[in-house]
Amino acid sequence: MSKTSSIDLDALERLLPRYGGPGPRYTSYPTAPVWSGDYAVESLRESLGRLDPNRDIALYAHVPFCTSLCHFCACNRVITQKPEPPVEYLDHIALEIAAFAEAVPARLHVSQLHWGGGTPTHLSPAQIELLFRHMTDAFPLREDAEISIEVDPRVTTDEQMDALATCGFNRISLGVQDTNPATQKAVHRIQPFEMTRHLTEGARARGFESVNFDLIYGLPYQTEESFAHTLDEILEVRPDRIALYAYAHVTWVAKQQRGFERKDLPDPATRIRIMLMATRRLLDAGYRPIGMDHFAVADDELSRALDDGTLRRNFMGYTTQEGLDVLAFGPSAISELPDAYAQSEREIGAWQEAVRRTGLTTMRGHLLSPDDVVRRWLIGRIMCHGEVRAADYAERFGGRIAVDFSQELERLEVLQADGLIRIGEAGGFVVEPLGRLLVRHVAMAFDAYLPEQQKRDQPLFSRTV
Ligand code: SF4
Repeated sequence: MSKTSSIDLDALERLLPRYGGPGPRYTSYPTAPVWSGDYAVESLRESLGRLDPNRDIALYAHVPFCTSLCHFCACNRVITQKPEPPVEYLDHIALEIAAFAEAVPARLHVSQLHWGGGTPTHLSPAQIELLFRHMTDAFPLREDAEISIEVDPRVTTDEQMDALATCGFNRISLGVQDTNPATQKAVHRIQPFEMTRHLTEGARARGFESVNFDLIYGLPYQTEESFAHTLDEILEVRPDRIALYAYAHVTWVAKQQRGFERKDLPDPATRIRIMLMATRRLLDAGYRPIGMDHFAVADDELSRALDDGTLRRNFMGYTTQEGLDVLAFGPSAISELPDAYAQSEREIGAWQEAVRRTGLTTMRGHLLSPDDVVRRWLIGRIMCHGEVRAADYAERFGGRIAVDFSQELERLEVLQADGLIRIGEAGGFVVEPLGRLLVRHVAMAFDAYLPEQQKRDQPLFSRTV
């Protein structure tokens, strides 16, 4: 039996064929397909008005521009090389930020700020500083705030890195995906590893506290050997965190993926072997599994947050700050509020038009029912803490989990038999180390909307492995 850091990877190999089907990633509960286009700007304004004036918030900005299209990508992005779109975008996001600031009940402080995309470093150094000012003038930053950004090493310059460091960015995430030239050519993303190395060293020299690499398995021409070579290269520079994602073949969302030849994509068995090999390599190299898809070195703050129970998950991924409401700006950005989710207009033209008209925009959203609130808490506990205590549930909701969720707990018995969780007498349960690698299957037992969604012909979610 092969055991690495107390995780039985032989057992994982046996289980993966049964646990590899489609499933949500639970960056929210309820998941986005449940949300409705009827959710109106007024509802968002009301939810913002109800925010606790004494609680810190998190801010997110979606910068949608990219210079060229990576063929695996399912993000909301605008491919452009013209200078005008970012200028117009900045004018509009300033209006949107002002509208949010007006809707909240007080001048709220920020303990987490994140930019994602698209490619945030599509902006020039001066534009980076301008967007940062727009956000932090309206919502002041705490001195010890976590300030993070996603960058594309192919387009990020030393001058942009200087601008980010001047603003105070202290965490950085690099899109790497795979270093194999054949795979890079097939996905239309040529990125010699030296670019990644240069940017990593530049981030560390400028005092960034944590460097994350995003990797994807399941891309064209990947084999166990080729991906092992990718890992050899990235482990040389030892990023603090690694996100290891399964390639999501979602041709109904990302039409350019139709250009991938089936024969060039690794078959399901190969995908599983690559995932297992990569997991083994990362654990052997001293990384800890943080939760779904994420690994971190032992002294990274995510590892510490996992230990002290402050790990949290939202649309920005895993973070160390529990219970922050997220105010999100830019096209398709998702605000996460105590009683609602609200997503702004997805298309940049529609977003700009709506921002000019009403300041805030909503393409869709969801007002949480009392049942949603309980399940959101349970799923958050599972994904971040790997544990649901019966006493915590009783204290928070005044009931008994063993009674209120008896059917869900019954469903979990199969997972218990497979060694993924351990259920206690009062109905609380612990996700075992092996279960952490398949944690969304534990969460799926508590998703009240999933059974209906699973009846659809067209899958709503990508494969979990
Ligand atoms: S993967 Fe990143 S850089 Fe490539 S198209 Fe998507 S958002 Fe742009």
